[in-house]
Amino acid sequence: MKKISILGSTGSIGQNTLDVMTSLNVNFSLYGISCNDNTDLLLKQINKYEPKIAVITNLDKYNLFIKNHGTKLKDTEILFGTDGLEEICSNNDVDIVVASIVGFECLKPVITAIKNNKTILAANKEILVSAGDLIRDLILKSNALLLPIDSEHNAILQIILSSGLDLKIFHKDYYKSKINKLTITASGGPFIDYKLSDLQKVRPKEAVRHPTWNMGDKISIDSSTMMNKGLEIIEAKLLFNLDLSNINAVIHRQSKVHALVDFFDGTTIAHFSQPDMRIPISYALTFPDRLYRGPLKSFDFSNLTFEDIPISKFPCYQIARDIAEVGKNSGLILNAANEISVEYFLKGMIKFTNIPNIIRDILDRNELCSHTNIKSIIDNDVSVRKLTKELINKKYGTN
Ligand code: MG
Repeated sequence: MKKISILGSTGSIGQNTLDVMTSLNVNFSLYGISCNDNTDLLLKQINKYEPKIAVITNLDKYNLFIKNHGTKLKDTEILFGTDGLEEICSNNDVDIVVASIVGFECLKPVITAIKNNKTILAANKEILVSAGDLIRDLILKSNALLLPIDSEHNAILQIILSSGLDLKIFHKDYYKSKINKLTITASGGPFIDYKLSDLQKVRPKEAVRHPTWNMGDKISIDSSTMMNKGLEIIEAKLLFNLDLSNINAVIHRQSKVHALVDFFDGTTIAHFSQPDMRIPISYALTFPDRLYRGPLKSFDFSNLTFEDIPISKFPCYQIARDIAEVGKNSGLILNAANEISVEYFLKGMIKFTNIPNIIRDILDRNELCSHTNIKSIIDNDVSVRKLTKELINKKYGTN
């Protein structure tokens, strides 16, 4: 029986993980869950799944929850904030930590999970982009294992392991000697057919309407700007460490092929599945076996298309590709500037087309350096966020 903690259980990945676990309940039990402010859903999850611990990270929501329900519901203890997240990532009983809190916030609990030798299922890509070198170094020094559940990287993992290669995520040169090229796919998001001039006017509610995947607001906006695909290029470089020129992304509107791997003998192997996050989650949970029985839909293989990304309409993709080559703390700067820009766009305070310009401005204004500890990474993140807000307020006239 493996025990699982889910960071961000009320989000889309968290809910899908619980779904998968329910259908595999012979093999797994739930230790910890967490939410920021969706305590209504957290309460339902507590009643349904009876975890040992539930964590609320929003102080007002925590206080209200405790007032209404007390600090213990049946066998579930209610904890607050960072200390609560640390507990569900470090407890000796826990085997697997699902990292599905959105954004940089997920970094500290993941570092704790690594230091306690857990298996980490990484849905969060922001922390790999911001602190990838530190995470890699800590993992290589520990007995922790990181498995990607981002669908494209999980698809690469499935192809690699099905081809008889070893599991050597973060290895310096193993995959370079075995794989010629990695290609990940992008649906294109809601604006793929828009003209550049039309992108000026798009509203948040249009940008969160993803054509093929059902996801949270942050990742939906990142998909609409193609920043998501750029972050995934950085993620793929970190995990599999091929030269950047051998890692590519293509538009594949049907979201049925998630990744393709070219081998040196001229073979290309593609991974097909429905766009359903339960598939990568279940593979990582039951890896190296496939124990999950999902809803099987018949596949329509007709009219599968692959196109180049129109970079002039989606400059965020190219900015992230450039950053993948630069390294050091450039990923951290890119990510912090992007998270703040997305937040301001969602609030209607900047235009869609301002996002890449703000990120470029912030990258230009920051010195590059290499971080060796979590404190300097967090300090750097705080200062880039502050600078981004100041720049937006000054240049785009918002408060
Ligand atoms: Mg993805």
